[in-house]
Amino acid sequence: MRLLLVEDDSSISQPLKAGLEREGFGVELATTGAAALQAGPVDLVLLDLGLPDLDGRVVCQNIRSTSKVPIIVVTARQDEIDRVMLLELGADDYVVKPFGFRELVARIRAVLRRSGSGANDTEPVEWGPLRIDRRVRQVEFNGEQVELTPKEYDLLAALAADPGAAVTREQLISDVWDENWWGSTKTLDVHIASLRKKTDPGLVQTIRGVGFKLAESITEP
Ligand code: CA
Repeated sequence: MRLLLVEDDSSISQPLKAGLEREGFGVELATTGAAALQAGPVDLVLLDLGLPDLDGRVVCQNIRSTSKVPIIVVTARQDEIDRVMLLELGADDYVVKPFGFRELVARIRAVLRRSGSGANDTEPVEWGPLRIDRRVRQVEFNGEQVELTPKEYDLLAALAADPGAAVTREQLISDVWDENWWGSTKTLDVHIASLRKKTDPGLVQTIRGVGFKLAESITEP
């Protein structure tokens, strides 16, 4: 995964670049809006709005006008950015400075998953008896096609993005519903229950106090 980090402040960009590289991302750094617009293709753009040469909003619109690459905008508190403005700019998400590194990485991964630009996103996921064909959103279990609702599919795909890894409830809600979703978290449990019913009760394991993961192996009853 290659990221373009657009940030003029080296006291932010240098540690951020090093941290993201430790997370396994390739990081290309642009310190001006002009450099950002000339950068080669990447998998995600992390764009500071306060740039020395061009208005970050213009940079965002320009990138979006030529590319579908996911964009996460980084704003200062005084930018007073709102979601409507973000949509108009074509950004996928935003973080407000100062932000936590962990939060940022979680946002990056969530945006990559939502945009379907995760690694090998056209390759089917094979996990024990489970097979997910992401190009056509079809799921097979033990060789039989499973009919899932769109949300059930999104939930399973979110769990299978990194099969066997724990995914928090908050992450799943953010990925499948909306990051600013204030509905009852019971909805998540209802969908998990439905996935278990349609596949195998042991497929999705509960990690108490954390969230869920796909089972490493499913033991026959
Ligand atoms: Ca700046």
